[in-house]
Amino acid sequence: MHQMTLAEIARGLADKKFSSEELTKVLLARISQLDPQLNSFISLTEELALEQAKAADARRANGESGALLGAPIAHKDLFCTQGIRTSCGSKMLDNFKAPYDATVVAKLAAAGAVTLGKTNMDEFAMGSANESSWYGAVKNPWNLEHVPGGSSGGSAAAVAARLLPAATATDTGGSIRQPAAFTNLTGLKPTYGRVSRWGMIAYASSLDQGGPLARTAEDCAIMLQGMAGFDQNDSTSIDEPVPDYSASLNESLQGLRIGVPKEYFSAGLDPRIAELIQNSIKELQKLGAVIKEISLPNMQHAIPAYYVIAPAEASSNLSRFDGVRFGHRCENPENLIDLYKRSRGEGFGPEVQRRIMVGAYALSAGYYDAYYLKAQKIRRLVKYDFMTAFNEVDIILGPTTPNPAWKLGAKNSDPVAAYLEDVYTITANLAGLPGLSMPAGFVDGLPVGVQLLAPYFQEGRLLNVAHQYQLNTDWHTRTPTGF
Ligand code: GLN
Repeated sequence: MHQMTLAEIARGLADKKFSSEELTKVLLARISQLDPQLNSFISLTEELALEQAKAADARRANGESGALLGAPIAHKDLFCTQGIRTSCGSKMLDNFKAPYDATVVAKLAAAGAVTLGKTNMDEFAMGSANESSWYGAVKNPWNLEHVPGGSSGGSAAAVAARLLPAATATDTGGSIRQPAAFTNLTGLKPTYGRVSRWGMIAYASSLDQGGPLARTAEDCAIMLQGMAGFDQNDSTSIDEPVPDYSASLNESLQGLRIGVPKEYFSAGLDPRIAELIQNSIKELQKLGAVIKEISLPNMQHAIPAYYVIAPAEASSNLSRFDGVRFGHRCENPENLIDLYKRSRGEGFGPEVQRRIMVGAYALSAGYYDAYYLKAQKIRRLVKYDFMTAFNEVDIILGPTTPNPAWKLGAKNSDPVAAYLEDVYTITANLAGLPGLSMPAGFVDGLPVGVQLLAPYFQEGRLLNVAHQYQLNTDWHTRTPTGF
């Protein structure tokens, strides 16, 4: 039962092969049996899950239908869930029970999805390995000595290990696509503004975007359908109609123009990954796609620009965690300054403190022009590169990551080494574009992802290409041994 995709679950529920309650019980038992090896959950919500599953079964019995009605999922632990701990992977929010549901959580619940729990993540979504979580590292089900990627590592490990078919995640610089690549999943980062950020705890507000992690493009389409849409509570949400993502999955790829940036195949890329990417290109050519070499000349400046802008926004966003209103408060503060200092010093882990300091520095008078303003100019150039490329091609294809998942602890002493691994993913966030990672093969038994980028609001095109690829390849069907 645990091997079923969301699409298969929807058919099984519609055909009355099993109930949502039965499936939910099976998956909850699987989580309690297997998750101790992975640490992919911060909180389990068994009671809520069983309640929601029974309600979904009752709705089906009353003639309702829908791909998410009775489908078990989990939420990355930065989506606010009413009355349930929403920790953001931080000691700072270990005691925080959100007073309301994030829009994404409310929308998926209304569609009938069943919440099994809240998944582990890098603290405040800062990281690429899920090792900065206050709740401990998450292990990669493909090799328990390796990281699952981050920051949505819990959602990725849980879905990859077949503990559940899909989960929500967020992507500020790659946190949906990179863990998808590291765990053999399909992950979609939508256009900035496509999915509401209301109730999604902010890391870098101009870059953050929620989206799905699942095994297939078909399932990502189902999840995105439930998550996307205008929300007046989010001032950056865009009032653009939501297309039927499942309806366009089967369009032909004949004549599709795929751009492959020459900068993607530079020295930093593992040659074994380069070969798998070439294989995926050949596969898409067989389906009728036409390949064109393109250039993204400003790509080399994207990492430094991102690692100024994201910490700058984070330093501002995280100033609200001051020990006064909610979150961790130190014992016996001597005065207000002592309260701030010790509450924040105790509540935030080292990576979060590093970013707050970098961000505050970059924004400070005298340095603003040299760092923040410069980074914003680079951001504009990165966007222009894409606009120019999309005049000639329909999608852009390349690797999701330069290397496969590294060993736990391997980059802990060198944060910049981890930042450099984000080279292929962060440009889409700087430009606000949609991006998808899908399974493309294995290197040393570890999964490799191929990334597709599309123009604004062309999530349907990404899902269509990925679905056609998945109809003709079987990488996405491989299951990690032991799960
Ligand atoms: N690895 C990147 C960072 O640490 C991206 C994280 C994310 O997308 N949330 O900022």
